[in-house]
Amino acid sequence: MDLRDSPEEARFRGRLCAWLKENVPADPEPAVLAERWPYMRAFQQHLYRGGWVALSYPEEVGGQGLGPMEEAILSEELGRANAPTLLPLGHLGRPLLRYGTGEQRRRYLPPLLASDEIWCQGFSEPQAGSDLAALRTRAVREDDAWVLNGHKTWTSYGVFADFCLLLARTDPDAVRHRGISAFIVPLSAPGVTVRPIVLANGDEEFAELFLDDVRIPAENILGRPEDGWRIAMDVVNYERGAVETGYLPKFERYLSELAEFVKTRTSAPDRATLRALGEAAAALEVLRMHCLRTLSDRASGAPPGPESSIDKLLMTAVEQKLMALSLSLLTDTAVPGRAEWFDRYLYGRAGSIYGGSAQIQRNILAERLLGLPRSPA
Ligand SMILES: Cc1cc2nc3c(=O)[nH]c(=O)nc-3n(C[C@H](O)[C@H](O)[C@H](O)COP(=O)(O)OP(=O)(O)OC[C@H]3O[C@@H](n4cnc5c(N)ncnc54)[C@H](O)[C@@H]3O)c2cc1C
Repeated sequence: MDLRDSPEEARFRGRLCAWLKENVPADPEPAVLAERWPYMRAFQQHLYRGGWVALSYPEEVGGQGLGPMEEAILSEELGRANAPTLLPLGHLGRPLLRYGTGEQRRRYLPPLLASDEIWCQGFSEPQAGSDLAALRTRAVREDDAWVLNGHKTWTSYGVFADFCLLLARTDPDAVRHRGISAFIVPLSAPGVTVRPIVLANGDEEFAELFLDDVRIPAENILGRPEDGWRIAMDVVNYERGAVETGYLPKFERYLSELAEFVKTRTSAPDRATLRALGEAAAALEVLRMHCLRTLSDRASGAPPGPESSIDKLLMTAVEQKLMALSLSLLTDTAVPGRAEWFDRYLYGRAGSIYGGSAQIQRNILAERLLGLPRSPA
């Protein structure tokens, strides 16, 4: 694989860098989510109007008709330009693109990609996290409607969302994961209650969704009835991918900020700090190489599969190494942006939970890539 930009990619990168130079806001990202959310959304809408969002989506749904290489260049340059964090919900367009009817793609994709309408992911339930197939939310067909009843939890950005891609059981007699369907649920529908979950830092990043006799039109099913499991696996494969989530440049920035601090502080670094820095740098390089390999698969048209669990484990390892190092440095009152680093440290703990816990990623790799026997239920 040739790691250099092709002439077209170099031109694309040049145009993008010039745009970012003019358009990345100079004011810092607000620390509190209630202020950070509108800031991130405004930047993403601006980015979209500039023609830099949904690069690999077809033009007829509001994309740019480009490929995964341009997506990767975008993610790299956003990181280098210290641009605001993108809304972490872009992967929810993928199932609409793949399974949506022509009408659903036309109706929902352009405003989703433009961040004019916000979507959330309604998979987890109080008794169904790692064991997602245990979900109990029910959808029953009544004439020209589906009637939904149930309870979702840990719904990221649910308080800001207009629509939810929601999994519900449609066939209670089918084998667990076979009887599940996916639905497009407007959160403004009567019977939907969105209750924020307040985090330790005061942010309302998650919500619980309660569905009481929520009636949605029959056409709001995504794919065929009982396609829900397949759709859910597609969504999580995109969600776990380091190339898709664009975390690499963010981690590169964290590493260089920490290295800079260690270099410039007055006391000489001890061996443990240097070792931790070296280990984080090595883990980051492994992730970077893995991303390049993933990118070459993507460029040949392959959608992400169970191997995205490798991305997820590598991303978590890098983030948690960097954050452990930052925590050991935080005792030094000279660390610039101490409170922000502490928030990052706390968030870093979630890396081994969201999108499927680290143990579940290892189970997937063992069973689906290595063909080892299934773990006992
Ligand atoms: C930051 C964040 C954002 C999230 N956003 C969303 C969202 O937008 N939408 C959504 O639907 N959900 C979301 N979630 C929920 C997330 O998907 C679940 O938390 C996750 O799947 C784990 O489920 P659980 O919390 O119920 O833990 P459990 O499934 O109860 O697991 C508890 C522990 O047991 C271990 N365990 C469970 N089963 C096995 C097994 N078979 N083998 C080995 N170990 C096992 C787990 O690894 C874990 O350590 C989010 C979570 C976080 C932290």
